[in-house]
Amino acid sequence: MPKTERWHWYVEEFFPTEQHHRAIDAVYYAGETAYQSIGIIETPVFGKMLILDGDTQSAQNDEKIYHEALVHPALAGTADRSEVLILGGGEGATLREVLRHPGVKRCTMVDIDGDVVELSKKYLPEWSAGAFTDPRARVVIGDALAFLANDTGRYGAIVSDLTEPLEDSPSNPLFSDEVFRNIKTRLREDGVYVLQASTAGFHNMSLHAKMARTLRGYYRHVASFYTHVPAFDNDWAFIACSDRLDLARIEEAAVDAYCAQLRGENFFYDAETHRRIFALPLYLRRELAKSGDTF
Ligand code: SAM
Repeated sequence: MPKTERWHWYVEEFFPTEQHHRAIDAVYYAGETAYQSIGIIETPVFGKMLILDGDTQSAQNDEKIYHEALVHPALAGTADRSEVLILGGGEGATLREVLRHPGVKRCTMVDIDGDVVELSKKYLPEWSAGAFTDPRARVVIGDALAFLANDTGRYGAIVSDLTEPLEDSPSNPLFSDEVFRNIKTRLREDGVYVLQASTAGFHNMSLHAKMARTLRGYYRHVASFYTHVPAFDNDWAFIACSDRLDLARIEEAAVDAYCAQLRGENFFYDAETHRRIFALPLYLRRELAKSGDTF
């Protein structure tokens, strides 16, 4: 391993008392868009990385863990995959994963930041892997808040791949009771709403629990799941909501049958992984069972 003095470092601050340092091999882009700061760098361990407002969004070498976890349990659990909606998802990897299912006739992706989309096409083409030019893809550059207020479509799955709802993030207004209600009206009766739902570390799971608590007011089944994402240096949580079925209890054979329909090979997700990511540790189950804050 070369001496550390040789490197420049990207330092991500998780809390004022926690930092993760990654050595930088190359900086491809650093700038400001109308909505957020953006960095695209290359690191020795994770390959290329997209960073928005100082937060790692995804990394080349493990983005499939995050994106397969976000998309496939939800698509496996929905009855009708013909119309899918993605909120956010600027890199195009969520779109890529959705379009791997041949039953998807149209996937609408709404991201507020055209610069993130264009810079991802230019510097991170491995993420979208051709998804942006798939005739089934419809990319809308606009605020998901306004889109949801005006849209009349109904979707078998809605996938929320928004940035963390930090105070000054453009995603913040989307985490409200009113928006959660709006999303439900856009979902088919037997559809699944899935969202990236913040960290699930024992030391930082309150935002996740707040999301789950709010969503329990809208859906019969609200299933949290999580996996470690090395580039996030954290356990990352998701929530799958449905009135029809509890995604935590989907049959193994149903997951196998779903995976067999996907084009290309999975990296992370299969029936065994499904069982593992929906099995929650006691501390997280306890946190989720508590009453407390809602949006
Ligand atoms: N994996 C990610 C994470 O860990 O937070 C999320 C990935 S994706 C890059 C997040 C996307 O959400 C960004 O492209 C950002 O532009 C988009 N976004 C944020 N606020 C939005 C809004 N109000 N409407 C639509 N897209 C939004």
